[in-house]
Amino acid sequence: MKTTYEKDLARLNKKGTDVCSICHVPFDDDDVVYTVFGYNRLGKLQVTSGYCIDKIVDVRLIGLCGEFDPDRFNAYLREHPLYESFMKKKAALM
Ligand SMILES: [Zn+2]
Repeated sequence: MKTTYEKDLARLNKKGTDVCSICHVPFDDDDVVYTVFGYNRLGKLQVTSGYCIDKIVDVRLIGLCGEFDPDRFNAYLREHPLYESFMKKKAALM
């Protein structure tokens, strides 16, 4: 059985996760982009970055997009603006 979140995520991935699903501006792929997957106030799953992150009230996943050395994924992820709060939330759920 798939959860609602998994279904929403599959739908979002099909639409493409290289543009902000709130303002539809493509993520800058010349640099590391810190992405956030989560639900907005209306209960819709969004993938976003930058200023639109403020629209996410329930963060489900943080990630990276754009141009970066895959070997440094974890190092970059630690630089994510929501890294601390996301890890805290994850720890609380376990
Ligand atoms: Zn946006």
